[in-house]
Order: sequence, then C-alpha cells, then structure tokens
Amino acid sequence: MPLITLPDGSTRPFDRPVTVAEVAAAIGKGLARAALAGVVDGRLVDLSHTIAGDATIRIITSKDPEGLEILRHSTAHLLAQAVQSVYPKAQVTIGPVIEDGFYYDFAFERPFTPEDLEKFEARMRELVKADQPVHRRALSRDAAVAHFTSIGEHYKAEIIAAIPANEEISLYGQGGWEDLCRGPHVPSTGRLGAFKLTKVAGAYWRGDSKNAMLQRIYGTAWADDKQLEEYLTRLEEAEKRDHRRIGRELDLFHFQEEAPGAVFWHPHGWAVFQQLIAYMREKQNAAGYEEISSPEIMDRELWVQSGHVEKFGENMFLTRTPDERVYAIKPMNCPGHVQVFRQGLHSYKELPIRYAEFGKVHRYEPSGALHGLLRVRAFTQDDAHVFVTEDQITEETVRGIELMMSIYRDFGFDHVRVKFSDRPERRVGDDDTWTRAEEALKAGTRAAGIEYEFNPGEGAFYGPKLEFVLKDAIGRDWQCGTWQVDLNLPGRLGAHYVDEHSQKRTPVMLHRAIFGSLERFFGILLEHYAGRLPTWLAPVQAVILNISEKQANYSTGATEFLKNQGLRVEFDLRNEKVGYKIREHTLKRVPYLLVAGDREVESRQLAVRTRSGKDLGAMPLEEVAARIAQDVASRGRRYLED
Ligand SMILES: [Zn+2]
Ligand SMILES: [Zn+2]
Repeated sequence: MPLITLPDGSTRPFDRPVTVAEVAAAIGKGLARAALAGVVDGRLVDLSHTIAGDATIRIITSKDPEGLEILRHSTAHLLAQAVQSVYPKAQVTIGPVIEDGFYYDFAFERPFTPEDLEKFEARMRELVKADQPVHRRALSRDAAVAHFTSIGEHYKAEIIAAIPANEEISLYGQGGWEDLCRGPHVPSTGRLGAFKLTKVAGAYWRGDSKNAMLQRIYGTAWADDKQLEEYLTRLEEAEKRDHRRIGRELDLFHFQEEAPGAVFWHPHGWAVFQQLIAYMREKQNAAGYEEISSPEIMDRELWVQSGHVEKFGENMFLTRTPDERVYAIKPMNCPGHVQVFRQGLHSYKELPIRYAEFGKVHRYEPSGALHGLLRVRAFTQDDAHVFVTEDQITEETVRGIELMMSIYRDFGFDHVRVKFSDRPERRVGDDDTWTRAEEALKAGTRAAGIEYEFNPGEGAFYGPKLEFVLKDAIGRDWQCGTWQVDLNLPGRLGAHYVDEHSQKRTPVMLHRAIFGSLERFFGILLEHYAGRLPTWLAPVQAVILNISEKQANYSTGATEFLKNQGLRVEFDLRNEKVGYKIREHTLKRVPYLLVAGDREVESRQLAVRTRSGKDLGAMPLEEVAARIAQDVASRGRRYLED
C-alpha cells in the first residue's frame, strides 16, 4: 500500500503498487501528458517504474533540466535506430548527451555525407510518427556481451565486457531495435520531435588516434519547436561571430601547421593585444601591483620541487641543452614569482606584496582540443601573485574583486557570475587551515557585495578559489577570471616572512588572473562585439578618405594631426570612388570614417561617419579629435552604435 509524497508535501495513498505514469495521471491529465520520467526517492526512473512501498516522487517534464536531458538522450537512441535502419552494417558505439544536444559515434565503412544526415533525419521523423513504445529489459553482463556479439555489435560488446560481471545490464528497445543504456527514456518515440542533426565529424574510438576512426553525428534536441528555432538562430549568430573568421576578415592573426596552437599576430591584431596589456598595466599599477618578469625556461628540477611535474607533467614542454641539462618551458608563472619573493627578508609590514607578470606560458594540449584563440598551446596570462598573511586574505579579496568587476565593466560585460569552490577530495594541508581559508575567502566575497554560486569540492588541491564567469552579448558564458588561495606552494618552495615576534612564517599566496589568457580573452571580445571593437580597442580608430587627388595633401596632414593626439588613424588615398572606400572600411569595422572633400579642405574640417552608417556632419579637426577621444575614454561602457 504505497503512500506517495509529492514535492509540495501533500500525500496520496494507493491501494496497490503503482507506476510513475499512474501517479502522474492521478495528479492530473495535463501532467500525465507532459510526464517524461520521475524521480523516486532521489533516483531518476522511467514512467513505467513500479513503486511498491512508501516513496517521495517528483514528476519530470521537459521543463525540468533532467527532462531535457532525457529528450536529448532518447533522441540519440532514435538517431542510432535510424542510422541502422538506413545502413544495417553500421555499428553503434556510444551516444552521450552534451551541452544543448547529443552525439552518437558509429563505425561505418566510409565517412557519412551531408546527404546521409538528411536521410537519417527523415527516417527519424518517420520513427517519431510511428510512435513506437520504448521498453526496458535487464540481462546479466555475460548474456548482454553474448547478445551484442551475436548481432555483430563488437564495440557494444567491448563496452559491456568492461562492466563488472555481477552488475545487471539494462537494454532499451523500440521497434525491434535495442541499445545498452542506463535510462531513463521517454515512454515512446512519439514524444520526440524538436530536434535537428547539425554535423558529422571523424572521432577515434575511445579518443585514441591509434584506434579506428568512427563517424560522429551531432544533433540538438529541445522541449519544443520554438526552443529549437531559438537555439538554431543562436548557433547561426555564433557562427557569424566566429573569431577565427573575424580574425581573417580584419587581418588580425593567423595560425599555421608548423606552430600548432601558437598565434602569428599581424600588425592590427598586435595593436589590440598591446592595448589590452597597456590597459591592464595601468589598472593594476594603480591597484598596488608591481610588475616583474620571470624566465620562460627553468631547470626541470624546480618544477619537480613545485609539484608541477607530478600534477601537470603531461602538459609540459621540455627541452634538453647540449650540456645535457633538462629544462621546462614554463606552463605557469607561480614558481618564478616565489623565487622573486624569496630574495631578501620580508617583514610582515611589507605585506601584501603583489607581483604581476604578463607571462607567456606553454602548455601541451592535444591537437584535437585546439580551437583558434580560445584554446591554444602558447598564451599570455595577466598573472599575479599576492603574498599575504592569513589575516589579510579577506581584505585583499575585497580589493581583488572590486578591481576585477571594474575591469569587466570596461569591456562591456555587465553580467558576471562568481563561483566559489571549496576543498576537494584530494588536497594538501590540514582541515583547520582549509576552514580558515574558506571562511576568509567567503567573508571577502560577501564584503565585496558579491553573490556567489557554491561549487562544492571543486577547489584546487592547494586551496579554495573563486571563478568569474562573463556573459557575452549573445548570452554565452565564458569563464575568465580566477582568484585562488594557495596554502601549499609558498611552503613547498621555501618562501618566508618575519612576523611581529621576529618569527619566520610562511605567507599565503593568492593567485589571480583577470583576463585569464590574453589570447583567449581577445577571441572572446571579438565574438562578444562581433568584430566591432569599441573605439578604445579598435586597431584603427579612424580612417581618412579623400574624394579626389585634390585633397590628398590635406588628408595626410589631417592624419598626422589626429595621430599626434594619440589616436590610431590611417588614410586611404587610393584612386577609388569614396563610396567604395567607405564600404570597404565599414567592412573592416573601423569606428570612424572621415571624408575630405573640397569644402572640408577649405574650412579645415572632416565629414564624420560612423561604421554603423550614422552621418555626424562636418567638424573642425579639433572637434573630430575630441569626439574620438571622448569615445576612447568611455571604453566599452558605452557603444559607439548606441
Ligand atoms: Zn539510452
Ligand atoms: Zn599562480
């Protein structure tokens, strides 16, 4: 006689064992139609799951995150069923849910084509129409291996063979087709429909390039067609904003095969990069940081001592010199900063000591993971390490957060989420120290007026941390900044200060980065602004265009004038129609297009247009300079386009 407790605390008695679907139906017809699965005593189960005893239950619909996941997962099964009905020789492997969708890897004799995707999608729609019920059955491990081997599914058999022998294996089937799966699933294929297959790519079995190449089909699935349409629009918008494409169009940088994951910066790209550094330098100098520079190549032994070889060795580039010494190319700046701190004796009165470095680091990333500026092997961090006493953590955290938030606002990021991560399973240091560090960090976050999300157990092995996530113009999240308390490295590398009782003490080290990687931050900015960098960042802030040869001298003179006001200005004296020149520089996203005709020459003026097509009329040169300078001073807090 199960007594069912619902999320609102109300209870319902049943006089016999009931399924989750029956509970939903007892609550209401609408819920019964919308139900996809249930959570029974904390466990996600199918609608067909039978409840025999007292239980608490929550019905899952597509409005719940779990429901969306079930839809995506069930759509991955639908895809596999469709692929095998079109090509019976294709073998299934794995098909997980990913952000916004799912993928499924197949073994097949040749790569799938875009035409194949169309066929699969059409077949999937037929299967949805057929509304085949989905059912579950359980087998012993060995029976499951034998089953999949007998139907020629060797990858599946291999996956199952790796599961412990005593574990029960569940299979989910629809229309005579079956797959290994933990579930839960939608009750029938008719519940699916708001999906689209997006692309196909090669992927190695188990991610290992020594293994067979599989065909990975990506798809997306949503609760309804409206959500699907919105997602596809977002995707299209993201593609238009792809920083690799903008980088090409604006001639900012390139990559080439000889240097995987390392950027070749072109003059205009480097001008922006230098602008980012100059800006950050100004901000952090004002905040009491001192800039240093530490060697890029140091003896491997130092990295053994710091613990990096053990924890990070696989990602380090090594180099051997003719004298047989082995060096590591730095993957992080921290150990170098401790070396600087260790020179001489520091009194507690000197703390906090804040060292900052635009440190170029190298980390080996698998080539498959590289992605334009967003994932590289060589990058520049706006890195800093602050040496403090334990008592100073809170106050320094407040200062740090305020600095970070003001910087993000200058780049037009108004929505910043902060995540707080505490002690992980594997860690160094005793629990009391951890508690004090966590409390100090929390207190600092609160004092800075920041709400944080709690990320339990996600701290670094050496201390708790804050992470800063920026929301861009099309709603995507980018984790950039980090603020970490380190209770480990200073002691490991022998850093000390002398306290008020003349005792040697180990300082706490705070690691912080605001941009994170400058290369990546640059890529994010390009996508955030869709290449229309605000004037203070634009590689060329204005370009002067003459109408005919007659204004050439005046144009070069006016360019010199504006350059002398500290602006980045170029001229375009080509013998082309001025309309053509305007179009071209608009495509290059130059904020100001300044036209010189006879009238402007006579009155020492320029006709001012913005890249958004606004005609601001003719202005004297001084006024043009003042107008652009005002725009520069407002940084990214105000759009030129507004
Ligand atoms: Zn499944
Ligand atoms: Zn560090």
